[in-house]
Amino acid sequence: MEFQVGNAKLELIKGDITDVEADAIVNAANSTLLGGGGVDGAIHRKGGPKILEECKLIRATEWPDGLPTGKAVITSGGNLKAKHVIHTVGPVWLGGFHVEAELLKQAYRNTLKLAVAKGLKTIAFPSISTGAYGYPIEEASRIALATVKAFLEKEDRLERVIFVLFSERDFEVYLKAAKT
Ligand code: ADP
Repeated sequence: MEFQVGNAKLELIKGDITDVEADAIVNAANSTLLGGGGVDGAIHRKGGPKILEECKLIRATEWPDGLPTGKAVITSGGNLKAKHVIHTVGPVWLGGFHVEAELLKQAYRNTLKLAVAKGLKTIAFPSISTGAYGYPIEEASRIALATVKAFLEKEDRLERVIFVLFSERDFEVYLKAAKT
């Protein structure tokens, strides 16, 4: 499914983000930047050791205590088809009484800003925070789509943003959110 938002195409697909050809794919990382499960594990497995080496360098220089929730950093794509990986840390769901929604927005927005700053045109997101971090996907999908749409309406340098949903159910939830 594809939607026009400003100058850009916003696309929803079901699939594995590690197979996607784009200027960048986004990693739902944890603050260590040293790998983990879910999409993070898949990206490092398929992308090879170069990505991890670059993450370690970022830890040694820019973020010695780890990447804070909501921030984003960029590495190469290693052996992936994608040229780069943008690593961002979504919030852990703590019941919605904390600042989860704001932090989830920041994760999307800071990723998009970094992509534009690096001159990237196409970027693919997974559903940040809705796996191990437990964010309810209906709410997360609304925030994800609203944040990306608001960004694309103001920023004309991105050409395509793709949400890559890993399961049929996740895809259906995002599709419903996109249509409303
Ligand atoms: P988080 O810790 O931010 O919740 P997870 O990786 O645990 O991150 O899950 C985020 C989402 O990514 C989940 O919906 C999960 O099903 C999905 N996911 C896991 N592997 C992949 C993959 N290879 N491609 C796309 N999405 C994936």
